[in-house]
Amino acid sequence: MKSPNDAHLPDQTQSILKNIFGYDEFRPLQREIIHNVLNKNDTMVIMPTGGGKSLCYQIPALIFQGLTVVVSPLISLMKDQVEQLREIGVQAAFLNSTLSYEQYRHTVAQIMKNEVKLLYLAPEALFREKTLALLSSVKVDCLTIDEAHCISEWGHDFRPEYRKLVEIRNQFPSAVCIALTATATPRVQKDIQENLGFDQSNEFIASFNRKNLFIRIVPKNDPSAQLIQFLKKFPNQSGIIYCFSRRQVNDLYEVLLERGFSVKPYHAGLSEKERTQNQELFIRDDVQIIVATIAFGMGINKPNVRFVIHYDLPKNIETYYQEIGRAGRDGLRAHCLLLFGYGDIQKIKYFITQKSEQEQRVANLHLSALLRFLETDACRRIPLLTYFGEDYSVPKCDSCDNCLEEEKELVDITIAAQKFLSCVSRTGEIFGTNHIIDVLRGSQSQKTLKFNHQNLSTYGIGKEYSKRQWFHLSRQFIRKGLMTQDMEFGSLKLTPKTYEVFKGTERVWGKIDEEREVNYNQRKESECEYDHDLFELLRSKRKELADKGNVPPYVIFPDKTLIEMAVFFPQSKKNLLNMHGVGSARFEKYGHIFLNIIKHYCLEHHIQEQSKHTAIHGTSISKPKPRSSLILKRKHVIVGEAYNEGTSVSEIMAKFGIKLDTVLTHLSKYLQEGHTIRSEGILKVSTLTSDQQTAVMQTIDKLGTGYLRPIFEAMKETISYTEIKILHLYYIITHTKKTL
Ligand code: ADP
Ligand code: ZN
Repeated sequence: MKSPNDAHLPDQTQSILKNIFGYDEFRPLQREIIHNVLNKNDTMVIMPTGGGKSLCYQIPALIFQGLTVVVSPLISLMKDQVEQLREIGVQAAFLNSTLSYEQYRHTVAQIMKNEVKLLYLAPEALFREKTLALLSSVKVDCLTIDEAHCISEWGHDFRPEYRKLVEIRNQFPSAVCIALTATATPRVQKDIQENLGFDQSNEFIASFNRKNLFIRIVPKNDPSAQLIQFLKKFPNQSGIIYCFSRRQVNDLYEVLLERGFSVKPYHAGLSEKERTQNQELFIRDDVQIIVATIAFGMGINKPNVRFVIHYDLPKNIETYYQEIGRAGRDGLRAHCLLLFGYGDIQKIKYFITQKSEQEQRVANLHLSALLRFLETDACRRIPLLTYFGEDYSVPKCDSCDNCLEEEKELVDITIAAQKFLSCVSRTGEIFGTNHIIDVLRGSQSQKTLKFNHQNLSTYGIGKEYSKRQWFHLSRQFIRKGLMTQDMEFGSLKLTPKTYEVFKGTERVWGKIDEEREVNYNQRKESECEYDHDLFELLRSKRKELADKGNVPPYVIFPDKTLIEMAVFFPQSKKNLLNMHGVGSARFEKYGHIFLNIIKHYCLEHHIQEQSKHTAIHGTSISKPKPRSSLILKRKHVIVGEAYNEGTSVSEIMAKFGIKLDTVLTHLSKYLQEGHTIRSEGILKVSTLTSDQQTAVMQTIDKLGTGYLRPIFEAMKETISYTEIKILHLYYIITHTKKTL
């Protein structure tokens, strides 16, 4: 038997990773987990969806002499996993009720002959006498419990039969056990661990931050138009749209179908057959978009879901996280858009009132956590990851709307606050936000008239803002402690701070919600430029091969493989084997087919092969410069280069028709990407006195260059954001120069 402490092990795992799976390096924790399992320590793995859990038991399974049994609750996923493994030449099989008698017997015979490395089973199948007898006659080296949260009653997917796995485990004393889950809630994690009784030192918890998911929340104004505008930016790409109700699903499905989108619905009202069919069409890239209620997604493993849209509010943060988690499993950039309507909150609030007292408390807690996430001005990842008990303190994630947005200037909203709060006071502190806004905007609503609120002095004094803007403002007043909201009834109450605002001793700074256009500049947000025409050629060949083999396209090659082919144009065996996901088995099967297409294409377009000399890091592909004609230079690069060539800031403004702020943002970005910028000329656009400039520079020196707002505040809000930006930029340029 192979000693698990074999000094060659690291090499062996690395070479399996490269030669069988075709990957260059391990993802965080994979290596540690694999070694822990190989050392026969019972191991618990907690990793987000797409984190790469499967490899953690698949690689040990290939090294162990005996069998690895994988218990998984979802039969559809089982088949998918087995197909993918066979495709890369790994002997994997499953036993379940979908097999014919012949297939069953064949698989059993293979297991007896030790020709199977990984055997996938649902728990019921494992508990069957026949299966246990079979397994007792072979050597089982590893018992894998996938979706281990099914063991916990606190989880969203409790399965009583999972509890019995603990007993079963004792029947395989020489097998190591590895349990895996993507459950982010600490309570469920603890419960799994207690049930399994694993040593805490063998617990591996990865970060739940999915860096490749771009999170964006926009006010829901004209939802179907907003949706269509978004979808148009993702032609030929797969995505899911989640809705609150079946009716909404059906309506939206009709709208999209009429607009010519490739779309299917999915909800509990459809027949089982129809649902399976629609799901299958989606998985096989025959249909691009699925409009669904939350029921959709459990049984799929499609790695190239490029967007997830929440057309209605999700129930809570956990559901939301799970749903967006279905995007971008392949590690490539994916977009998560949520349309946020305050009306949806009212809907949720209404549903909460229909619950029992105990449930209401929990539901209200969930709702406030959701609101914190929806309304934050800071990075979206902070409330999200904090909710899951993770300490996230990166100043800017660069992958959410708030981090990408230029810092907005705070404006004085004292008058708006005074109007709103006095209306709360005049109406007796017993009404909710909706009604207060109605009164402020002079509505003729029944409720207004019933309470005679049209006669109040605050009636109709707030017509300058839309209903949505008032909602946005009112949330800021609550956050600033100027008023509180009763969680149960929604009524607004004043606080001691309110009176400071009334007296005018406390000024209120905040933001006015503007109609923000949803701008999905794909190019700006996509991580790498590739030859789209070649990609399409490769993609259609892949689809053809997939249909022939009766498997989903991603089983043949993931998208990332095709993208790399369209970046590096590999034309030899050696270079093709260097592409992500190309191991020896896949090369044997498909190598020449894809090489031929690439060679042809390159010949026709006079393209040279590029070497992939740098490794792939996480989600981004490090690459040499592809053909310059393929690259559309990004705006900030153009601006940065023009500036360095001597064009002044005001000339740039005129030439590109952009505002000073935008020029500054471009230059900052250019700088952040590691370029240098000439320092002369920057201060020319500042209108501050040199004393003021010095003061700002000193403040930056003290507070650091992370954020502008603290600087703005430290300067007592007397210096405009634009001026701060100028000096901020100047500071960084001169500072970097010094350190070079
Ligand atoms: P999970 O089960 O945690 O949701 P998977 O095991 O399905 O995640 O892995 C997600 C995707 O990442 C798969 O397409 C997988 O092939 C890929 N992957 C896993 N590990 C690596 C790695 N080390 N390098 C590159 N890709 C990887
Ligand atoms: Zn962010």
